[in-house]
Amino acid sequence: MYDTIIISEKPIAGQSIAQILSDGKMKTNREKWQTTFEFDTSFLGRCILIPLKGHITDVDFKKEYSSWYTDLKNIIKSDALFYKTTQPGIVRSLNETEAKRLIIATDADREGESIGREAVKIILAKKSKTKVERAYFSAITSDEMNNAFSKLIPLNEKLADAADSRREIDLYWGAILTRFLSTSTGLVGKDFLSVGRVQSPTLAKIVERELEIENFKSSPYWEIKLELEKQKTKFEAEYKKRRILNKAEAEKIFSNIGQKAKVINLEKKEMAIKRPVPLNTTDFLRFAANLNVDAMKAMEIAENLYMRGYISYPRTDNQTYVGVNIDKILVNLRGSEFDKAIDKILKQEKITPSKGVTTKDHPPVHPVTLAPKEKLHPEDWKVYKLIVGHFLATLYKDAKALTTNAEFDVNGEVFISKGLIFIDRGWLDIYPYTNQKEAVLPELVIGEILPITNKELLSKKTQPPVRYSQGTLIKLMEKLNLGTKSTRPAILQKLYSRDYISGKKQIKPSNMAKTVVKTLEDYAKHIVSPEMTAKLEDEMNQIEEGDLTKDKVVEDSKKMLLEILDTLYKNKKEISTTIRATHQQANVVGKCQRCNANLVKRTSKLGKIFVGCSQFPKCTQSYPLPQKGEITFTNKVCELCKAPLIQLKQPLKKDPVEFCINPSCSTNKDYQNSFSKKDLSNSSLNKEEARNEKKGTEINLQKANIIKPKASIKTPKLKKEKENQTINNF
Ligand SMILES: [Zn+2]
Ligand SMILES: [Zn+2]
Repeated sequence: MYDTIIISEKPIAGQSIAQILSDGKMKTNREKWQTTFEFDTSFLGRCILIPLKGHITDVDFKKEYSSWYTDLKNIIKSDALFYKTTQPGIVRSLNETEAKRLIIATDADREGESIGREAVKIILAKKSKTKVERAYFSAITSDEMNNAFSKLIPLNEKLADAADSRREIDLYWGAILTRFLSTSTGLVGKDFLSVGRVQSPTLAKIVERELEIENFKSSPYWEIKLELEKQKTKFEAEYKKRRILNKAEAEKIFSNIGQKAKVINLEKKEMAIKRPVPLNTTDFLRFAANLNVDAMKAMEIAENLYMRGYISYPRTDNQTYVGVNIDKILVNLRGSEFDKAIDKILKQEKITPSKGVTTKDHPPVHPVTLAPKEKLHPEDWKVYKLIVGHFLATLYKDAKALTTNAEFDVNGEVFISKGLIFIDRGWLDIYPYTNQKEAVLPELVIGEILPITNKELLSKKTQPPVRYSQGTLIKLMEKLNLGTKSTRPAILQKLYSRDYISGKKQIKPSNMAKTVVKTLEDYAKHIVSPEMTAKLEDEMNQIEEGDLTKDKVVEDSKKMLLEILDTLYKNKKEISTTIRATHQQANVVGKCQRCNANLVKRTSKLGKIFVGCSQFPKCTQSYPLPQKGEITFTNKVCELCKAPLIQLKQPLKKDPVEFCINPSCSTNKDYQNSFSKKDLSNSSLNKEEARNEKKGTEINLQKANIIKPKASIKTPKLKKEKENQTINNF
């Protein structure tokens, strides 16, 4: 029997919390199913800390609604959801532990409240008289811990309800729409078409940008640049109107340029280059993306740094330090590569941090203690250093620069030069993540005449808009109220994993993504427009405020979904035809030599890819494909046997190889010769397997028509088989 059970959200956080509360004197119990920490404190008595692993229950459809072929409207109209246990080991620990009081010390936000409530429910079911309290903190430091555990508050049910409403709504929307689109187009199993309340409007934005780029008509324009000189300093001046849209006009101006330019106007101004505002999650992800750390990874690293007590809680919209002990943090960061910057900051008369938006949320993302560089993975250190660097910059002064605008008369045409010189580099001196540069102009006097030492007529073209990067996309999602600071990276991840998008710095949609978005826009616009999902987002906020109940919001969202489904059913045939056509197009490999229909890429029941005739079962022509490496269909045919040629890029090989898809084609003999003897002997063995595999795929194709996936929204799991059919087969 303990006095107190403490619940943490994750094991690392639990260890850090136990360390602090016990002053390092805790006992670690490693059970087979769960690790816990035991310790005594003067104010909590005998304690046991049980760490969770995030959610210990998951919302899912009841069994009778789990088939993809269940009547979708019926699911929406029924009470179809239930919460199931996903962490039996943890549940066992919770069930077996008794104490007078229970303190929830999960992350301090909606999700943390919901996770904490899951543990509360399990414990209260056994011992209903346990006193439940909540420790609310923004960083795992001794100050924050002592404060949170001495000012315990009640568990906030509204916060937990807001989180759970999201889980339920997203399951309904995601599963119902995904099932509709996948089953009505026949794209189930590995090829299922994912649709979601947040992911689809986000995808629509990416597609919209891509179409802008595709439809962009570039137009020519001209620029004129001059090189001027004063006292051996050369500098550039450009035509004041910058873009000249007419070639003849540009050439006329250019040919009229003489030898001299006269200074006719000089304007000098002092300008502040503002230091950054404190980091919220969106900006943090954006800056991390600039350092080549993608959104999902950056969030994972930040969470880890938080749980180990190095930085504050990384999910926040706040850009103002409220209740942050800045002096103490600066002391904590001493004895490191940040010393020089800290010295500069402390030399100021007073530290006045910059500030942006103020919310009731956690403080902005900031360091709390010095992380040991040698113990961190280089990428973790890169992220930590960014957070520290940004924090320090917000405590230092704005930079000051002197800007000069000079105008020159050149045979009646006006040219301009811009200069920028730092008076005080301020925060730029301690912030390595910006490259603001000086542009030096010589000292100029109005009326003076300078020689033109060079001139250039540049022919240019207007450029299409740029694709979104992970950073700019997350920023856009924030602006459109799509998802939350916590869910955005995972939404992007989903789009990548469904092959809807590719690229990190320039996100490009696939053809299927374009078709899905276009089809939804034509027949169910609400799914891809940000307004509907933003409205739901707003309603979830109202649950947190206590203005709406979870049941009401979930019911409302189901009504919306039912209306959408009505429209979808009305247009089912058109939707199906359009999407199937794109799917087939994307998988066409070439022409079948037996019947002249299309050869298409297919996936067998065992999850193996192969090429088969689209006229199956009328025509049974098929070829095996390598299961490893990246395959590109070339649209070319083998000169010898006329089968399609494919290109294969193997994971460890630098250059892709091109070869005939037909295993018995003699062109493949040469390719085999390039293998070592060992490879060759393996390949003869594999040939046998390839033949079996080929037979197998034909049988599987017939079976494929009757597979009915069971899982709700997740991909039905394919039976994993040892993949030994590689390029050696040929
Ligand atoms: Zn055929
Ligand atoms: Zn061939």
